[in-house]
Amino acid sequence: MLNQDTAKAWIRRAAEIITENAGVLTELDSAVGDADHGSNLKRGMTAAVEQLDQDFASLEALLKKLGMTLVSTVGGASGPLYGTLFIRMASAVVGHDEVGGEQLADSFEAGVGGLRQRGHAEPGEKTMIDVWVPALAAYRASWQADGDQAAALKAMAEAADAGRDSTKDLVATKGRASYLGERSRGHVDPGAASSAMLIRAAAEMLG
Ligand code: ADP
Ligand code: MG
Ligand code: MG
Repeated sequence: MLNQDTAKAWIRRAAEIITENAGVLTELDSAVGDADHGSNLKRGMTAAVEQLDQDFASLEALLKKLGMTLVSTVGGASGPLYGTLFIRMASAVVGHDEVGGEQLADSFEAGVGGLRQRGHAEPGEKTMIDVWVPALAAYRASWQADGDQAAALKAMAEAADAGRDSTKDLVATKGRASYLGERSRGHVDPGAASSAMLIRAAAEMLG
C-alpha cells in the first residue's frame, strides 16, 4: 500500500540504499558516462529525505514535492527523469489517501509513461526504462495472478534486478552512454542500477 507513511518509509529506505551504494553507481557511470550518477542521486535523495518531516495535505502533495525536489537537486539526465516519475505518480493518486493493487500499478504506470515521454527511450536502449517496463509488467502479472500485494512487489523487484542485469549486454542508444556506441556494451547502465534500488526499497516498504 502506498500512503503518506509508507511513501516516506520508501524514500528513507531508498536514500539509505542509494547512499550506501553511491560509490557503486558512480563507478558504473565512470565506465559509460561521466562518473556522477552516485553523487547526483545521493544529493537528491538527501534533499528528498529533508522534505519528509513536513505535514502534507495529501499523498499527491507529498509525491509531487518529492518529484520537484529531485528535479531541482539531482541534475544531469536522471534528475528530470526521476522527478517526472514522481510528479506523474502524484497526478495518478489525486483524491486518494492510499493506493494498492491495480491502482498502485496505475500510479507506477503513469510515472513510467512520464519517464518514457521525457527521455524518448524505448526498451532495449540501455537506460532505466529497461528496469521500469519489465518491473511494472511483473507487478501487474503477479497481482492479477493472486492479488497478493507483497508478492506483487517482490516480483516487481526481481524483474527490476533482471532488467538491470539485462542492460549489461546492450549498446546504449540514449543518454551520455550512447556516445560510446559499441564500447558501451559490457557495462550495467547506472540509471538501471539505481532504479532497481528504488524498486527494491519500494518492495521492502510498500508491501
Ligand atoms: P548524466 O548522464 O547527465 O550525467 P546521470 O549520470 O545522473 O546523468 O544519469 C544517467 C542515467 O540516466 C543513465 O544511466 C540512464 O539510465 C538514464 N538516462 C539517460 N538518458 C536517458 C533517456 N533518454 N531515457 C531514459 N533514461 C535515460
Ligand atoms: Mg552521469
Ligand atoms: Mg552528469
